[in-house]
This record gives sequence, C-alpha cells and structure tokens, in this order.
Amino acid sequence: MTEQLYLVDDARRRFEATVERTLDDRVVLDRTAFYPTGGGQPHDTGVLTVAPADDRDTDGDIPDTAADGSDGTDAGRRWRVVDVAKSDTIYHTLEPVADDGAAAEGDAALPAPGTAVVGEVDRDRRHAHARYHTAQHLLSALLLTEFDATTTGNQLYADHAHLDAAYDRFDADDLARIESGLNDLVDDARPVTSYTMDRAAAEATLDTDRTRIDLLPESITELRIVEVGGADAEEPYDRTACAGTHVSNTAEIGEVVVTGRETKGSDEERVNFVLADHATDGDATID
Ligand SMILES: [Zn+2]
Repeated sequence: MTEQLYLVDDARRRFEATVERTLDDRVVLDRTAFYPTGGGQPHDTGVLTVAPADDRDTDGDIPDTAADGSDGTDAGRRWRVVDVAKSDTIYHTLEPVADDGAAAEGDAALPAPGTAVVGEVDRDRRHAHARYHTAQHLLSALLLTEFDATTTGNQLYADHAHLDAAYDRFDADDLARIESGLNDLVDDARPVTSYTMDRAAAEATLDTDRTRIDLLPESITELRIVEVGGADAEEPYDRTACAGTHVSNTAEIGEVVVTGRETKGSDEERVNFVLADHATDGDATID
C-alpha cells in the first residue's frame, strides 16, 4: 500500500515520490499526498512532474538514476492528476500536459517505474473539501448531541454538501437551531487534531454512535482519530475515526448556511448546507 501522507499531515500539498507501477493511464507511487475518493469526500487533483536532475543529486529521497536507466532528460515533464482512487493501493490517473499548460496530444507515455517525481495538490479544491469535511464533523456531532440523530451518510463537494441522519423530520426551527449551533462552533475557533490509535483501544474508547468500527474491514488494525476541541479543553466536543482531510481549526470553515432539508426515506432526513462564500441569493440564512 502506498504511504498515505495526507493521513499524517493534512496541510501537505507538495511531496517527492517514486513511481512504482504504471497501468494504462494510471500510476502507483511509493507515497502520496493526493487524497483518493472515499468517505464522502472527492479525490484531489493536481500535477505530477518528473523531478529536476538537480534534485536527484542533492536530495537523498530521490535516486540518482531512475530504474529504467534514464538520465533525467525527462525532467520537467508534467501530467495532470485527474482522478485518484483507492482499492488495494492508490491509483493516480494522469493526463499529459504540454509546456504551455495545454493538454498534450500524442505523447501519452507515463513516467516509468523508478522515476522520481514531485506531486503538487491543487490547493483551492483540497481546502474547500477540508472545510466542508470539518463542517460535516460538527454537524454530525451537533445532530447527535442535540437531536439524538445518528449520521447515516454524507457527501461533500467543493461548493456544497449534504448529510443524512436518522431522524423523523427537521422543521424550520430545527434547521435554524442547527445553523446557529454550527456557527457557534465555528466562532469558538475549536482546534481540530488527529492521531492514530490501535484498533482494540479505539473499540474500547470510541462512541459507537459516532464511529461504526464494526463496519471497518478486519484488515484495519490502526485507526486515525479526529478530535474537535471541547469548550473546556478537558473533553473533546467530538472524537471519531476518520481518514479524510480537515482544517486545523473550526474558524477556518467560516460561516455555514443550512439551505434546507429533504426526506430520504422513513425516519431519514437529509440536511443540505453550503459555506457562506459559496452561497447564492437563494441560500439566504434561515432566521
Ligand atoms: Zn473526517
């Protein structure tokens, strides 16, 4: 399995790696900061560039000579990372880019195994996902705490999101209360931190209404725990297992606008929300 840099450093956008395998239009790297689609969060996009020859001489992370015997003459060749998917490992789908930034025609050859590359994650898209994802943690925790409603699903995008919860029906007052509760947590500027925990310890510690550990494959022996700070610093407001990407403080989310609700089935409600900078005229804050 590719080393997942985004699990240990959410803020990392640039990284060095070595190509391990190529398959048609996809590559596998030894390590990556590109988040793959999963957990309701879309994949990152960005650029993969063959590392400059200079780096190969000075940086111990990068081999002097690629395994295919190339001497670095490919240095600077670039590809757009257009999809990132995780199965047995993490696959990056690439599209070649010409020097002028346009999509290159004809030359579709991917970097050969052993090639040293530099990856750069598109910042705006990742940051939007991290803000929505962190807002989703706040919403899940708030619905559980104040409505005894457990989260049953969620999906976020770069400009809107929704969350499904086991609940009969949210009325207009409920939605206003949810929105103001979310914005109180944002205004509180609560820290968001993560660490890894042994699965057995996590099973003994985590609230099963917040994390369905029983749904995780047996092969997962270590869990990444994400905490949102509590009002008194003693006990976190929320603690759950999550492999997504988050901002480091709830203030970074900014104002949240709850745009409405939908019925998703018997006793299941969907709450739609946007961040204020993505709100349109029709998304007026509920008063
Ligand atoms: Zn998360």
